[in-house]
This record gives sequence, C-alpha cells and structure tokens, in this order.
Amino acid sequence: MELNNKNILVVGLAKTGVACARFLAARGARVTVTDMRDEAALASQLAELAACDIRKVLGSHDERDFTGADLIVVSPGVPQDHPLLVRAAAAGREIVSEIELAARFIDVPLAAITGTNGKTTTTTLAGEIFRANGYRTFVGGNIGNPLIELVESGEPVDRVVAEISSFQLEWISTFRPQVAALLNLSEDHLDRYASYQEYIDAKLRIFENQEATDFAVVNRDDALVWRYAQGLKAHLFPFSRKQELAEGIFHRDGVIVYRHNGREERFPTKGIRLQGVHNLENIMAALACALLLGCRPDASFEAAQGFGALHHRMEFVAEKNGVRYYEDSKATNVGSVEKALESFDAITLIAGGKDKGGSYAPLAPLVRERVRHLVLIGEAAGRMQAELGALTDTRLAATLEEAVALAAQITEPGGTVLMSPACSSFDMFSGYEERAKRYIAAVKAL
Ligand code: ADP
Repeated sequence: MELNNKNILVVGLAKTGVACARFLAARGARVTVTDMRDEAALASQLAELAACDIRKVLGSHDERDFTGADLIVVSPGVPQDHPLLVRAAAAGREIVSEIELAARFIDVPLAAITGTNGKTTTTTLAGEIFRANGYRTFVGGNIGNPLIELVESGEPVDRVVAEISSFQLEWISTFRPQVAALLNLSEDHLDRYASYQEYIDAKLRIFENQEATDFAVVNRDDALVWRYAQGLKAHLFPFSRKQELAEGIFHRDGVIVYRHNGREERFPTKGIRLQGVHNLENIMAALACALLLGCRPDASFEAAQGFGALHHRMEFVAEKNGVRYYEDSKATNVGSVEKALESFDAITLIAGGKDKGGSYAPLAPLVRERVRHLVLIGEAAGRMQAELGALTDTRLAATLEEAVALAAQITEPGGTVLMSPACSSFDMFSGYEERAKRYIAAVKAL
C-alpha cells in the first residue's frame, strides 16, 4: 500500500490515533489529525507527536478534511454513524480502522480474538502459548498496544495475536485473520449501538474476509454464536465444555480433547491455575488458536496450565473476619457478572456504575439463588434496584468505600463479598483499574 504523499486524515486522537498518525507521517503521507477535544485536553497525545510533521484540527472538525482525504483512518472511539464519516463514505472516500490499516502490512499468521467477554484473557494466554513454542509473537490490538505499533517498529515476528473489539471491526474491508475466534455473545455497549443486533453484526465481521483455508474458532455452547457460525466460509473449529466433538476442542471428565483432521491430543485439566468454567472456555479457545497455527501440543498445554489469572478478573483480595473479598472490576457487562456469580455462594454483591443501556434482568435467576445482599453504587443504581431489588436484600451506597463498609457489616462469616459491577466505571472513576484500586484499599482498611 503506497502512503507517500497521500492526504490522510486521522479521526480521533487517543492511543490508536497517535500511533497511526506517527506511522503514516513516517511513511511520507501528508497527515491531518482531528479531534473534538482541544489542545489542552490533548496535551499528552500532542507531546507524542511533537517530532512529526502533522497538521492538527482540534476542538472541532472541518468537513473539507474529510471530503478531501485520500484515506480516512478512524479511531475505535468514533461512532460509525458520525455524519461526517457517513458523508465522506457517500462521496467515495476510503475509510479504514487501525486494524485494517495495520493488517495490510502484516504478512505473518494472525490470530484475532473477539467476543463479549474473555478477550483479554484468551489473547494474553494465546500469546504466551506461541512464545512457549519459540515463536516471536506480538500481542496487541484492543489489549493496549495497537497493531500499527508493530508495523511501525519493523520488528520481525512470526505470529500476531490480536484482541479485537466490535468497534475496531466497523471499518474493515480486507482484514483477514488466519484464525478468528468468537468466544461468546451477550448484551454490551448498547450506549454505542442502536440495537443488540447491530453489535452482533459488528462482531461477526471478524469472519467476513476469511477463506476455506482459514479457521473460525467458535463457542459451540453459546447458542447465538453457534447459530451465526453456520454458513461461515472458514473451516469451523468449535470448542465446547458440554459436548464431544469430532472436529474441535472439548472438555470431558477432566480431560481437554483436541481433534483435528482425525488426529487427537488429550490434556488432563488437573493442575490448571486459571479458575472458573469461563476460563476453561478461554483456555480451549487459546489452545485452538495456537495449535491451528503450528504450535506443538505438549509445550502449548504446559504454557496454558501454568498461566495465572490477570488482575481485576475475579481476583481474591483478602479474608477479613471469615469473609472472603473478591474484586472483578473488569466485569462491565451482565455476561461477565453471570460467570462471577456462578463461581461463589452466599454473595454480597457490590454492583453499579455507568449504565450502558442494557437490561440487568438476565442476572435475576443467579441473584435470587446466590446473592444474599446487593449493594448498589453509581449512576445505574436506580435502574438496577428497579430490576433486581425485589429479589434480595438491597441497599444503596453513595461511594464505593461506603459500599465496602456496609458489605462488611452485613455479610455473615463464610460469605463472599464480590465487586462485579456490570457497568463501566466512568461515572465515579477514571477507569476499571482505579475502581479496583479503591476497592482493594477499602477492603484492606477494614
Ligand atoms: P474482555 O477483554 O473481553 O473484557 P477479560 O478477559 O478482560 O475479557 O474479562 C472481562 C470480564 O469477563 C472479567 O470479569 C472476567 O472474569 C469475565 N470473563 C472472562 N472470560 C469470560 C468468558 N469466557 N465468559 C464470560 N465472562 C468471562
């Protein structure tokens, strides 16, 4: 792809936009960056671009930059139906996301992982497995370092593992992973999509350019995923906790069985460090990605076995007065909270935060069965109380610290206090990490 002297507009100046702008300028493109935030708000991003020859249109957009561009690179934070993008597309401008741009320069096998939950865990684990097999591996995407940084660095690699969000798939046209995994589907991001269907359609685009020689790793136990997997062009490679598969990877009686082209590998699950049924799914998906892209069974399984939990995902914090405290700050939607509730009994659940517009009702059966006390915080507290409050003892707290103190008072010895919010954190915190930190500090201070 020729970039020299092209007029390229980068829309949105977060981490991805900065990386794209830098890369494009280094390749000789005439780059304009634009963001609705002003110079003061973007000080740190602009500092990173200080050495580049780049035009900046900040605090507002100028439509002429859109209609005059040879190429528009859109950051994941920008809604797909932004009127300027819609009009630029109608005028025949080429619009791409960062993963589309980066993938055009990547010529080693790429495993792309998406789904509502488990992306980061599965991506990180798959990366570890590739490395344990001796492959020089870049792990990136939605996980923190954009793929374009790999291209920019020019570092030689053998494999790329990418965590992919629905937003990044909105502007792809040729993005074609050799292995694409869809872990699960449940409601999320309804603040960004007009409907659940629109969100699903965005996720499914991960498969749209695959050919019969590529693989689609899909969750056989997720009815929605399985339904949409029918008719994909790629070779279907399901994973299942519940049923035996002739082709695919499944769990039965303490053994993970991998079957591909009539060959079988068996791995006993004893000794696996990652806990929880959802992590068994993540492990099977990661193993499938790795084995389908050339990894050796024994080295791969050993790496999977030794892999510990990532922070802020159902992490044990402390035991105080016979009560165990867990932190699951990364649980920002109903699907991830369901998995957390399935993992404990006699729960005091601390939930709430920034409402993303979905329904909390799917939590009702598990709340009724396992949640003794519900302590709600944040913007969503009112809606959660309306949908779940009648099912169990429910209280409201003004701050997270107050919620922890209240939970400590009302939880019986032997019980579990779990912060698994079902919401994002931006109403009260800078992000899920800060929310986790504040929770841990409050627990330790008890
Ligand atoms: P993502 O990157 O998709 O947000 P993470 O691995 O960061 O996924 O996990 C996010 C949340 O979802 C955590 O609360 C975690 O415990 C939960 N989770 C992890 N894997 C799964 C899964 N396969 N199904 C449902 N929930 C999961």
